[in-house]
Amino acid sequence: MSILNADLHCHSVVSDGTLMPEQLAARAAANGVELWSLTDHDEIGGQHRAAAAARAHGMKYLTGTEISVTFAGETVHIVGLGFDPDDEEMMRGLVETRGGRTVRAREMADGLAQVGIKGAYEGALKYVGNPDLVSRTHFARFLVETGVCSDMGDVFRRFLTPGKPGYVEHKWASLGAAIRWITRSGGMAVIAHPARYRFTPTEEYALFLEFKTHGGGGVEVVTGSHTVAEYVEYAETAREFGLAASRGSDFHSPEESHTDLGTLPDLSPKLTPVWEPLRDRVR
Ligand code: AMP
Ligand code: MN
Ligand code: MN
Ligand code: MN
Repeated sequence: MSILNADLHCHSVVSDGTLMPEQLAARAAANGVELWSLTDHDEIGGQHRAAAAARAHGMKYLTGTEISVTFAGETVHIVGLGFDPDDEEMMRGLVETRGGRTVRAREMADGLAQVGIKGAYEGALKYVGNPDLVSRTHFARFLVETGVCSDMGDVFRRFLTPGKPGYVEHKWASLGAAIRWITRSGGMAVIAHPARYRFTPTEEYALFLEFKTHGGGGVEVVTGSHTVAEYVEYAETAREFGLAASRGSDFHSPEESHTDLGTLPDLSPKLTPVWEPLRDRVR
C-alpha cells in the first residue's frame, strides 16, 4: 500500500469546486486514482455521496475536509482525513467556521462596489452550490465572467488578496480546535500546501511546532500548489517534524485547475504516506 495513486485533496460544488462529488469520483477513477478523498472547505456535507461514488468506481476512500484556520494573523488550511463523517463535535465546529461567510461576502461586495464593480454579491451567488459556503472563488468566477479580469489568478492578484479592494479580514477556527475536531473523530490533521503561506521561517516553524503539539499528524508534500523544489523542501520538513506525507491535486474545476485529479508525481519512498497510519480508516 506504500506507492498508491492517491489524491487526497479536491473540491466539489459543496464548496468552491464546479463538479458534483459523483463527477469528481468518475474523473478520479478515469485518471487511475486508487485512493481518493473529497476535501470541501469547512464542509463535510458531500462525504456520504463521495464515499458511495468511490465504491461504485472501485476506489478506496478516506473521508475529507479542508478547515480554514487563523494562525499568526494568516489563514492556514488544515486538511482532515479519515474522521467519522457523522461526528457531532466536528459538524458543530464546521457550522461555526462557515458561519461568517455570508456577512464577509457582503462586505467583499461593498469593497468591490467602491472601485466601481457593481452587483458582485449577486454575481458570485450565481456560482454558489451551497448557500452556506460563499467563497472568494465564487467572486473570482464572476469577475472573470464579466471581463473585469482575464483569469482567476488575475482576480486574486488585483482584488481578493490582503490590501486589495475585495479582501475582507476574517477570523476562522483556531488551529487547536480544528485539529481536535479531526483527531477526536478518528482522523488525521494535515497541513495543506505549506508553501503557500506568507510566513517568515520563524512563524512557519511555530506553525509546525504548535501543529505537532496539538496532535497534528501530516503535511502535504506533493500538491498541485507546490513546485518540484517545494516537494523536496517539505519532504525534508515532514522528516524533521516526524509527520506523515500527503499527496493531492487541490482540483477545483476542469476549466480552472492546472493539476488534474491523480496526475501528480508519487511521494518519495523515504516518506511515510498518510494512508499508512490511516489504514484502518480507509473504506
Ligand atoms: P476563501 O475560503 O473564501 O477565502 O477562498 C479561498 C479559495 O480561493 C482557495 O481555496 C482557492 O480555491 C481560491 N484561491 C485563493 N488564491 C487563489 C489564486 N491565486 N488563484 C486561484 N484561486 C485562488
Ligand atoms: Mn478552494
Ligand atoms: Mn487550500
Ligand atoms: Mn483546497
